[in-house]
Amino acid sequence: MPGFMDLLLASGNAKKAGELRALLAAAEVQILSPADVGGLPEVDEDQDSFAGNARKKAESGAKASGRWCLADDSGLCVDALDGAPGIYSARFAGTHGDDAGNNAKLLHELGDVPAEERGARFVCAVALADPSGAIQAVFEGEVHGRILDAPRGAGGFGYDPLFQFTEPDHPQTGRGFAELSQAEKADISHRGRALRQLAEHLATWTPS
Ligand code: IMP
Repeated sequence: MPGFMDLLLASGNAKKAGELRALLAAAEVQILSPADVGGLPEVDEDQDSFAGNARKKAESGAKASGRWCLADDSGLCVDALDGAPGIYSARFAGTHGDDAGNNAKLLHELGDVPAEERGARFVCAVALADPSGAIQAVFEGEVHGRILDAPRGAGGFGYDPLFQFTEPDHPQTGRGFAELSQAEKADISHRGRALRQLAEHLATWTPS
């Protein structure tokens, strides 16, 4: 195990933080939230990639708190929309975190695009910064699916009700992300895939 026990998660999104906590439960690190350190400064997510924004948030959180800091940036890339909303996923409809507005806009923009042309992927980048703010690791995960014609399921958050998992030969193939339990989603999600790489890295890594 690495020589640190506390890991600050630079995320104020409670549902996302819950998924991150569950995914890192086996890594034997104590997860702190921004509230545990008296809050973190706002970060302008102005980089041109998920990894760039994750790095910026991890560096800022580490410098502000003097702790190891983990940040993620994630979003939905839709083939028929040339990869949009991408890094603008959280504010697609204008207001940051307006899930209902974002989903309505997505359905509107796709209109009657047929099922076979509604391919999409969720992407998640995670970045780990040491207490000086230096980036020590970055990992990315993605999951492939398609955008449904109408919402399905009551779980998850964000675009989950419109995302159908389509990767072949998997027990969950064909199910909507909002129809999955948290554990089922974590098993296949972009965030799960990125964080399992990080957890493996933490298990074997010794800081210099
Ligand atoms: P972030 O907080 O800057 O990473 O923005 C992520 C945005 O992308 C969220 O507000 C959601 O709209 C979307 N998103 C990311 N991950 C997921 C997911 O697992 N399910 C549904 N939507 C997601």
